[in-house]
Amino acid sequence: MPKREDDTYRYAYGHPPACTCVDCVNRRLRKRRSRKKIIAIVVIVVVVAVVIGIFHNQIAQFFGS
Ligand SMILES: [Zn+2]
Repeated sequence: MPKREDDTYRYAYGHPPACTCVDCVNRRLRKRRSRKKIIAIVVIVVVVAVVIGIFHNQIAQFFGS
């Protein structure tokens, strides 16, 4: 019976943004993880690009001198 009431509540009002049920928490964690992954990939790409740029300058100076 409490489960039915819970389902009825969810169907009637949906899940609020601050819902702490297992489904919503897992969904939010997945979103956060995917966002963190995207941010981590972007940071790695930027760092690699900067490092490559520094190395390119050093290589150019080494061959130029
Ligand atoms: Zn929920």
